[in-house]
Amino acid sequence: MKIIVCVKQVPDTTEIRLDPVNGTLIRDGIPSVMNPDDKAGLEQALRLRESVGGDVTVLSMGPPQAEVMLREALAMGADRAILLSGRAFAGSDTLATSSALAAAIRKLDYDLIITGRQAIDGDTAQVGPQIAEHLDIPNVSYAEQVTPIDGGIIVKRSFEDRYQIQRVMFPCLITALGELAHPRYMTPGAIFDAYRVHTIEQWSDGDIEADAKRLGLGGSPTRVKKSFPKSTKPAGVVTRAEGRQAADIIVAKLKERFLI
Ligand SMILES: Cc1cc2nc3c(=O)[nH]c(=O)nc-3n(C[C@H](O)[C@H](O)[C@H](O)COP(=O)(O)OP(=O)(O)OC[C@H]3O[C@@H](n4cnc5c(N)ncnc54)[C@H](O)[C@@H]3O)c2cc1C
Repeated sequence: MKIIVCVKQVPDTTEIRLDPVNGTLIRDGIPSVMNPDDKAGLEQALRLRESVGGDVTVLSMGPPQAEVMLREALAMGADRAILLSGRAFAGSDTLATSSALAAAIRKLDYDLIITGRQAIDGDTAQVGPQIAEHLDIPNVSYAEQVTPIDGGIIVKRSFEDRYQIQRVMFPCLITALGELAHPRYMTPGAIFDAYRVHTIEQWSDGDIEADAKRLGLGGSPTRVKKSFPKSTKPAGVVTRAEGRQAADIIVAKLKERFLI
């Protein structure tokens, strides 16, 4: 099975801080990690390779420092790592990101593409399904369990209130939940090999033959008008009452605020 896992380097926090003046993300002093859903997806890819054979390629679009995360993926057991990097990709929104990743994937052989369900910084959950759309292949999101079958996989999708079992044939894309597979630890030997034996392939826009109009800021239709931290609400007041008394309290509160 030929598997491509898209991995994104993200700040190691779900509490993204914004610069109050210009509204941009404050990344200084925040360590970066592999996006948790992507790490679960990578672990699943490695398990599939172990059970049915094949190879696992990790692909990331990002600045040169994303190399560290790709080395981690190699140390976990990935066979090949590709970093898509360069000025042409700067300022990409989700559409431009997925266009670039899909163009890179077109240059590779694959049966299965795995992305995370969502990245903990951007949080849109759009990139995986968009890649599938660009490549015109089926997408199964919210994967919590994957079982290989001849020529495809069976995916257990998890929703808030139910599961759905889907059979999907290759080539296809799934988006992984963090629960899909608990990531393995890297061994010291594998970490050495990730730096000494493996290389990270650096690809630029010229390597992926993408339409330049679909990349970077110019290829991004999203415009962020304003970003600001959520205002904190004061602590609420809990009043315990029942029946008529509860109704009277609610009506009094609503009148107090001129809502009725
Ligand atoms: C107008 C605009 C401008 C932006 N400019 C920049 C910028 O200059 N620099 C910048 O860093 N960000 C920028 N961003 C943010 C960037 O577009 C998003 O981080 C990116 O598109 C991914 O979206 P997301 O984080 O919501 O990912 P999601 O859709 O939540 O991610 C789902 C999955 O897709 C895969 N994935 C997502 N992104 C990547 C990636 N880069 N490489 C590999 N796999 C990936 C992962 O498997 C991930 O789990 C910009 C966003 C907007 C709207």
